[in-house]
Amino acid sequence: MEQCDVVGIGVGPSNLSLAALARPVAGLRARFLEARPRFQWHPGMMLPGARLQVSYLKDLVTLIDPTSRYSYLNFLVHHGRIYRSLIANQVGCSRQEFEQYYQWVADQLPGIHWGQRVKSVQVADAGFEVVCEEGGRFAAPALVLGSGRVPALPDFAAVFEGRDVLHSNDLLHVRPAVRGRRVVVVGAGQSGAEVVDHLLADDRELPASLLWISSRVGFLPLDDSPFSNEWFAPPYVDHFQTLPPERRTELLRHQRLASDGISETLLRTIYRRLYELDIAGGRLRHHLLPNRRVTDLRSHGSSHGSGLAVTLREGDTGKMERSVADVVIFCTGYRSPFPDYMEPLRERLVNEHGDFRIRPDYSLEWDGPDHLRIYVQNWAESTHGIADPNLSLGAWRSAQVINSLTDQEIYRLDGFSTTVTWARQPELDQDRDRGAVPPPPGDHIPVHGPFPLDLAPVEGR
Ligand SMILES: Cc1cc2nc3c(=O)[nH]c(=O)nc-3n(C[C@H](O)[C@H](O)[C@H](O)COP(=O)(O)OP(=O)(O)OC[C@H]3O[C@@H](n4cnc5c(N)ncnc54)[C@H](O)[C@@H]3O)c2cc1C
Repeated sequence: MEQCDVVGIGVGPSNLSLAALARPVAGLRARFLEARPRFQWHPGMMLPGARLQVSYLKDLVTLIDPTSRYSYLNFLVHHGRIYRSLIANQVGCSRQEFEQYYQWVADQLPGIHWGQRVKSVQVADAGFEVVCEEGGRFAAPALVLGSGRVPALPDFAAVFEGRDVLHSNDLLHVRPAVRGRRVVVVGAGQSGAEVVDHLLADDRELPASLLWISSRVGFLPLDDSPFSNEWFAPPYVDHFQTLPPERRTELLRHQRLASDGISETLLRTIYRRLYELDIAGGRLRHHLLPNRRVTDLRSHGSSHGSGLAVTLREGDTGKMERSVADVVIFCTGYRSPFPDYMEPLRERLVNEHGDFRIRPDYSLEWDGPDHLRIYVQNWAESTHGIADPNLSLGAWRSAQVINSLTDQEIYRLDGFSTTVTWARQPELDQDRDRGAVPPPPGDHIPVHGPFPLDLAPVEGR
């Protein structure tokens, strides 16, 4: 059993960021266990031309430590690509290149054990004992769970999963035969749009028909506007956590398109391509159906041949519709189940209502001793906000974890100014009480910018 200070489970972008930011911390023995034999980033969806949906500055380290050698810019310099990349003036970098960057960082970090799938975690005297299917055994007083989300496939579809019914996560593993067949794509987020774009890309591989189904009211764009983007900055996380659970759920619903909408460039590409295909003689029959939910899937056989009967419910009228397909691709997102390997500890992590509580430093509340900590990456959307499953706050979240587990301010985490003021900040009232912030003139609420907030409580409200 190897003893260390912290064990990270899973090495996707989240724990890779942690590993990169932990590397310069003297004396911190960090080990990371990854089931795959090498770093891969959603390989089943690494479609040609797919682009990163955020700035490349949201890499593993830059927004917390721009001097780190593990930055994307350093990767470009190291590979002699920096000038060409600049001249290419790409609209965001490609996901393929970002995966190469991640692999380059992963190759430089000691302490990552590839091909080690964690099967169980127990508590013992030395802290947590982590056991891998391949035989690796590690002990540490702290764990960081970074094993990611899992594809969400409706139960009625799971029974048919295979070559013709699949989740988008497996698209390039399965490579369903689509040429000349009836294809249904379920889901109109970024993944659904990327799949549709992929299906339309090659004239020689076109399906006979394409049904693209959106449960939303349309095929809606990503809200990438500046003020909405402040939901993806640390001050908003601080605010979000203070809200009651019902309000957080409501806000996440309102903000969904800032995370799960379709990039506008991709929407335009698909629209243009469908138009071109139509004027070229309509070799592809296509129907885009918004406001529908797929409610059932069954085998279908008739005198005209066999296939899969797809049942839909139309949102406004509740009317049921049916279509027959050969291939159905579910782009229905991901979910965050409780990890199997944590089952032995489940009872010690939930409160009397059966809920998990995640503290501001991303550690889970539990009934064990306080010096044994379990941190979570990409598991805190409901408590820490819409940015949690996204790359935006990855470096900042990892830095939070490092500061918390070393009990030192290794990385500076405060002092980010905001343009939007999310709520009255009580600490400023305290500052005012101490005389640090002068009282507001009169009783009006002053306009404020990226300066200390001086928002006076208004009497009588
Ligand atoms: C196709 C796609 C594209 C995306 N593009 C963007 C984007 O452009 N911008 C953005 O901000 N966000 C994007 N996201 C969202 C998010 O950034 C990614 O999902 C990101 O990969 C999450 O990183 P992660 O490390 O938390 O999880 P993952 O990347 O899922 O990594 C988890 C790792 O844990 C390993 N693992 C699982 N179980 C075990 C176990 N028991 N033992 C050991 N290892 C285990 C897995 O093999 C995997 O390597 C995208 C998501 C998808 C699906």
